[in-house]
Amino acid sequence: MARIIDAPFSGVESGCDPRALNGAWGSLSAAAARGLAFTDEVRAKTDALYGKVKHVVPAVEWPAYAPLIAAINDLKRAKNAIVLAHNYMTSEIFWCVGDFRGDSLALAYKAAQTEASIIVQAGVHFMAETSKILAPEKTVLIPDLRAGCSLAASITGADMRLIKQKFPGVPVVTYVNTSAEVKAESDVTCTSSNAAAVVEWAALEWGSDRVILVPDEYLAKNVAAQTSTKIIAWRGRCEVHERFTAEDVAELRASYPGIVVLAHPECPPDVMSAADFAGSTAALQLYVEENRPAKVVLLTECSMSDNVAAAAPDVDFIRPCNLCPHMKRITLEGVYDALKEMKHEVVIAEDVRVRAKQAIDRMLALPKEKPRAFATGRLPVAVQLV
Ligand code: SF4
Repeated sequence: MARIIDAPFSGVESGCDPRALNGAWGSLSAAAARGLAFTDEVRAKTDALYGKVKHVVPAVEWPAYAPLIAAINDLKRAKNAIVLAHNYMTSEIFWCVGDFRGDSLALAYKAAQTEASIIVQAGVHFMAETSKILAPEKTVLIPDLRAGCSLAASITGADMRLIKQKFPGVPVVTYVNTSAEVKAESDVTCTSSNAAAVVEWAALEWGSDRVILVPDEYLAKNVAAQTSTKIIAWRGRCEVHERFTAEDVAELRASYPGIVVLAHPECPPDVMSAADFAGSTAALQLYVEENRPAKVVLLTECSMSDNVAAAAPDVDFIRPCNLCPHMKRITLEGVYDALKEMKHEVVIAEDVRVRAKQAIDRMLALPKEKPRAFATGRLPVAVQLV
């Protein structure tokens, strides 16, 4: 199992804290290299923001982050830009420069609605593509072009065409963690918040007892355990969530009696089965906010715990340190450079964009509901793998 960080201020010496990896000290030199310093003016501009993250960002690190945060927020105002921050961003990005925060679904809604001229995606490449698909008239920037995703990389448009040839007439539901090219070959997209609902809708709409759900094999299996619709799946995996095991859950329960175990549906089915609650990042956050467990572990990307902990300081978080290396490509200095130099602009061929948008629009048109929890304690259900 990934090493447990059992302290919010594990800091540099943990060798594992995402803030240490991106680096408060890296940010300090990055700010200095850009002529930015922790002045009284910067302190005044950022004091209230520090109040939001003081439970997860040590005071000694704040002077490293604050100059970049102040400069980013000034640039946003000057350029009519917004930052869409995914739940897996480090807290100084998520809480201090993110204008809208949340999971892929929440950010997709915001991209479609915003009146800003520029969207900076503090997330990975497929998320920036989704924003561009929904808001083609906006300039969409991704701070680091290397911010990919193992799931998105697991399947191509050509793969999708072959799957559709193999299963004619079967609706294709595609997880949003895919490229625009893959979305363009899909009937409808889904996120982990609404996957089961979208699968059931597609089965009804297409009059089919089977639905193709790609590319995440584990998400497909976990959805299959929630619905009577038969699922045809692909063998993609999230490199972060696939590392969790049912033995990890048993070890956590033995080490921390009474701990509440929350799992993301990209985890293997036996992990979901052993958890107390399972759902998308939005559902996990809501669970903590509503139930305030004394001690909790989130079996998902590492920064999520920090971001939920910042808003729930009374909850004790045990932190399995599974980092997404792609998400961690996004840094404060990267966001600053993106806005200042207007890089890296996301471009999608118009015919691909239009077809991908149709699949996303079908999802967004479905009734908005509270993120659906996945039932835990269920036996794994077989799916047909392509
Ligand atoms: S956490 Fe997993 S699904 Fe999310 S971006 Fe990273 S590799 Fe992709």
